[in-house]
Amino acid sequence: MARRLALGHLPTPLWRHDALDDLVGTRVWVKRDDCTAGAESGNKVRKLEYLLADALDVGATRVITCGAVQSNHARATALLAARLGLGCDLFLRAKEPAAPQPLIGNLLLDRLAGARVTFIDHAAYRSRADIMQARAAEIGRDGGRAYVIPEGGSNGLGALGYVEAMREVRAQLDVGLGGGPEPYDAVVIACGSGGSATGIALGARLHRVATRTLAMAVCDDRAYFAAVAERIATEARAHDATLPANLEGLEIHDEHKGPAYGVASQEQLAFIAEVARRTGLVLDPVYSGKALFGLARSGDRPRRTLFIHTGGLPGLLGAPDALAALFG
Ligand SMILES: *Cc1c(COP(=O)(O)O)cnc(C)c1O
Repeated sequence: MARRLALGHLPTPLWRHDALDDLVGTRVWVKRDDCTAGAESGNKVRKLEYLLADALDVGATRVITCGAVQSNHARATALLAARLGLGCDLFLRAKEPAAPQPLIGNLLLDRLAGARVTFIDHAAYRSRADIMQARAAEIGRDGGRAYVIPEGGSNGLGALGYVEAMREVRAQLDVGLGGGPEPYDAVVIACGSGGSATGIALGARLHRVATRTLAMAVCDDRAYFAAVAERIATEARAHDATLPANLEGLEIHDEHKGPAYGVASQEQLAFIAEVARRTGLVLDPVYSGKALFGLARSGDRPRRTLFIHTGGLPGLLGAPDALAALFG
């Protein structure tokens, strides 16, 4: 079994609110993975517990990863690398890489953590694997050792973080938390690079948390994520032979992703605002807001749902213009 560092504040709470049930139209328990840590918080902490354990085990001196300018994953990696005494290189995708990027939200935290940040354009970002390998080679020539983490921390090792999260939920259900001990009808989560949804699909069945996993895509499409999930699941089984042999129960939805990645519709934004106003729960406009909106709009809503709140608050604070339209 893969080694795991205890980096998160776990277990995270299972939380509910009557007004949230009304807004979504079904019973919703929220797994508060927006509270997995302090400034590092969000779903990436669970993946990084495994990925950074591996980085230390192979003797890495620096980690390298990538994402959008306001990547939650890059920020979590930068802060946790700093905690562990590792250097961190970030390759961040920007429309105009040569222009100054606003020092807000996740990027501000990346800088505070001391990460070495390189902005690259959308075309270069497609070659991110090569760019990160080239940097790793350079670090090696300088006498260091680099550990490359893929976008979103989404590989088989990272996905184990969400298998473990489902074990955590099962233990909570068994002591009567989260409405337990009965399993939920479905787990619902935003899907951006696929690792979390894949780990949940495997872990929810292994640990009897739910038989269905609804992955709400925020980019790409169903066919794309079906292939991604198969690849990640195969890798994950190489680390843990007890995992289910298939991804039965994983349902990928791409009809709720809104206008584009990082762009929400007026309806999606209004939903996020209504949830905050009536429950105090802050969803983010890139991931968790679209996922829960998707559940609320779904034609076949499971009766009892576990919604994974994946975090993203620094991303919201780093894109204030995205919500300005709400307030006139
Ligand atoms: C990365 C991220 C997701 C998506 O998780 P994946 O494992 O990349 O699919 C969802 N919500 C937030 C807030 C994220 O930062």
